Amino acid sequence: MSFKDEHNARVPRPASCIPVTQTVSFATLGCKTNQFESAAMQEALQGAGYKIVRFEDGADLVIVNTCTVTGATDAQSRNLVRRARRVNAGCRVIVTGCYAQVDPGALRDLPGVNLVIGNEEKQRLLDFLQIDQQSTLVEVSDIRHAESVCLTPLTSFAGRSRAFVQIQNGCDAFCSYCIIPYARGASRSAQENEILAQIKGLVESGFREVVLTGIHIGGYGADLQPRSTLNELVKRIESGSAIHRLRLGSIEPTEITDELLETIATSLIVCPHLHIPLQAGSDAVLQRMGRTYNRDFFLRLIEKVRGALPDAAICLDVITGFPGETEREFADTYEFIASLPVTDLHVFPYSKRPGTPAAVMSNQVPGHVSKARAEKLRSLAKVKYKRFAEGFINQELEVIVETGARKGLMKGLSRNYLDLRFPGNQSLVGQCVKVKPVVWDEHFLRSERVW
Ligand code: SF4
Repeated sequence: MSFKDEHNARVPRPASCIPVTQTVSFATLGCKTNQFESAAMQEALQGAGYKIVRFEDGADLVIVNTCTVTGATDAQSRNLVRRARRVNAGCRVIVTGCYAQVDPGALRDLPGVNLVIGNEEKQRLLDFLQIDQQSTLVEVSDIRHAESVCLTPLTSFAGRSRAFVQIQNGCDAFCSYCIIPYARGASRSAQENEILAQIKGLVESGFREVVLTGIHIGGYGADLQPRSTLNELVKRIESGSAIHRLRLGSIEPTEITDELLETIATSLIVCPHLHIPLQAGSDAVLQRMGRTYNRDFFLRLIEKVRGALPDAAICLDVITGFPGETEREFADTYEFIASLPVTDLHVFPYSKRPGTPAAVMSNQVPGHVSKARAEKLRSLAKVKYKRFAEGFINQELEVIVETGARKGLMKGLSRNYLDLRFPGNQSLVGQCVKVKPVVWDEHFLRSERVW
């Protein structure tokens, strides 16, 4: 999809015309990739002399980095543009992100929008600021031709104990409910040496855990010359960096190879934690979703994962109320998940995204039904997570301390993603400590320090 408004008179401003004392604020919706891209734009603007202020403070320049995952997020994006003008009627508004990418015309027509740029154009934000605009300008290139991956700026992690490295962007799968291939383009990978350099920088900044993220990280390397794979990348990180823990973001079921499982099982740094989008446990629903596996495949995969990684956290994404989902199909999903040795679920009621095949499928499921089904699965998730967590009571676990939690306890995550709370103070944040869980406390394992 490409959109370029040719009717605007554009005059490049000399760099010295950039008002260096101007303030800028960001309003960002959506996924981690979008958050990282906002952080990268923020860093570029700070480098150019802009002062970052809060959205509510009414900046001179407002960047709205939109999300378009559902019709509801489109509406939220439009509201943020209107709010920016309400807080400071004289501000300059730039809209970017996935909604800007797939429907720039809708945003251009909102009162007060000065510039609409696509996801690739984010990287040239400073160039756009030098254009002396006479009217609203739209610059959105065809994202299917995009080749770059925006690596996460280090400053995104100030005050955090885990860092995220974006190794990949885009997706080629075109599932019937998902707009991402249109909003983020084809799957493309960051260069291995750039990823290693970034991890080195994070280690030098004191980080002990890095999470590899992207839209579709299992597709890592297929576009590189020479070709590579996620498994190869993980092995290179283990041999070529000093990071203490490496965690993998969400991976498609068809991309969890035997080699990758073996690498995780034998690695000293890779955490035994897999986050897998199942989406539905009914073959008919999976087929309508355009997913490329069935229940049998998924069952065998989970058995293999559990066999290779007995203590692993296995978390599934599930969508309830997909168009046409009958009570029987939902019951199939519920019973299937109940039978699997998985440890947690992320459940999302289906929400229509205009422009996708699923949005025009017949038999759309009413919202209250999708939500009720989601609640049933969330209750199942609580039971599964508690059972998994209680299996580690009295076992010594390594924790990287994240932050202070309530009730005078510190919080941290084990290698297998258990939420552990234990006595301590802020000086521990970012440190690796040993704890022993003693009791399940509603949402977490209350633990003792081991000295
Ligand atoms: S694999 Fe994920 S990102 Fe790609 S189209 Fe399917 S749901 Fe969307």
